Amino acid sequence: MKPHVALLASPGMGHVIPVLELGKRLSTHHNLHVTVFVVACDNSLQQTSQLLNSTNHENLLDILLLRSGDISGLVDSDASIVTKILVMMRVSLSSLRSAISAMKCRPTALIVDLFGTEAMAVADEFNMLKYVFITTNAWYVATSIYAATVDKKVLDEHTNQKLPLKIPGCTPVRFEDTIEPLLYRNDAVFYWYIRLGMDMTTADGILVNTWEDLESKSLGALRDTKMLGRIAKAPVYPIGPLARPVGPPPVSRKDAVLDWLDKQPTESVIYVSFGSGGTLPAKQMIELAWGLEQSQQRFIWVVRPPSDHDASGSYLTADNGSAGFSDYLPDGFLKRTHNVGLVVPMWAPQAQILGHPSVGGFLSHCGWNSTLESIMNGVAMVAWPLYAEQKMNAAMLTEELRVAIRSKVWPSERTVERDEIEMMVRRIMVDKEGLAIRNRVKQMKNSAIKASSEGGSSYNSLSQVAVDCETSLQCLKAMAQGG
Ligand code: UDP
Repeated sequence: MKPHVALLASPGMGHVIPVLELGKRLSTHHNLHVTVFVVACDNSLQQTSQLLNSTNHENLLDILLLRSGDISGLVDSDASIVTKILVMMRVSLSSLRSAISAMKCRPTALIVDLFGTEAMAVADEFNMLKYVFITTNAWYVATSIYAATVDKKVLDEHTNQKLPLKIPGCTPVRFEDTIEPLLYRNDAVFYWYIRLGMDMTTADGILVNTWEDLESKSLGALRDTKMLGRIAKAPVYPIGPLARPVGPPPVSRKDAVLDWLDKQPTESVIYVSFGSGGTLPAKQMIELAWGLEQSQQRFIWVVRPPSDHDASGSYLTADNGSAGFSDYLPDGFLKRTHNVGLVVPMWAPQAQILGHPSVGGFLSHCGWNSTLESIMNGVAMVAWPLYAEQKMNAAMLTEELRVAIRSKVWPSERTVERDEIEMMVRRIMVDKEGLAIRNRVKQMKNSAIKASSEGGSSYNSLSQVAVDCETSLQCLKAMAQGG
């Protein structure tokens, strides 16, 4: 009998997509029986169901939807998206418990994503191993664990005096790049964040969507008992990159965006997208539209209605926002650019777009899944971080890995004007600089493929998790037989 593991994904495409990829890898590379629990709220249900149907073609996974129902009575309507997701996760715990209890073949391990750490208590109740899967990178893990355990004075210096957060053994986090919850010291989101950092240290292991060669410094610090290893306690397993693979297009493919891409020259198109929920202020949208037009480069832009208050405004919704293009794009923009550009409302087949040979650049909000999808397809980036840990990701991409360029000031601080946007697009798509960056990304892609292939560092790391699940199964069997 194969060891059985259960995975728990919180609402939002940025979590569900990598959790499903992890499930597929555990099933195909490591021969485990995998059940994935996916928490969905009413707003995200339709989009989540579509994703699940399109992902599980080969029936590699058992997938169970846990509906969080209506949480409006439990949380203020203006609470942060993180608070809302965590409340949804909390109300789903009883369904998770019932579902596990009803299983004939109990899973030996529960792997939860970042927002699911409260469910580790359910794993304890059923004597299961418990792992946290961080869908972003090791620098984030190091920052969270350090922030959760360090003296309050150090956090005050960082957020009030704007000094860098000096994490032992890691690149310091500059104030202007810092992770969003640290800026809201009096909001529930700060306390959630600290608790999530603490929770990580109580797991049997922390799985991270990264690989050794990409983040050797942060990974080394997390393991070194003279540095973060002393507080991280849990072993850290870099198991990435887990990104949706792009196979050859099906013969019957029907997608207007991909058909349009087929007609464009190699590496001539810049793809512009802000993840599953990112939105821009109205004024910024106008500048972006003009910047793209002035650059005279081909583009695909995934457009959502503007929001002046909340950069993660569409995170759990998939409303069709096409109706009002003319309300928020410059007059005549669509007409003037119709030969070179495509504007897609709300959602586009991103993995296939980035995997298409006509795409050479990606203006991205630097969500970690988007970042990995770009690297895995050798696409150079313009970093445009908006919220959460995206400024840290963007700093890493532009300064350490040098696979992206950036605006002078982060877009979340000041409107980036059309001339600067025009220049960034041309730098990445036309100039020699863009070519050099593309070459670097392609080298990084090769190191990622090596890490994930049989015998590679990420492959071996995940094998270790699979072995621990097998060992736990044998122990449980021996106990059941009174051994
Ligand atoms: N995505 C997509 N189409 C879109 C927008 C996003 O397929 O129009 C996918 C994208 O490929 C990635 C995920 O949604 O896998 C977004 O995750 P990421 O970590 O980049 O950002 P988040 O949405 O969590 O901010």
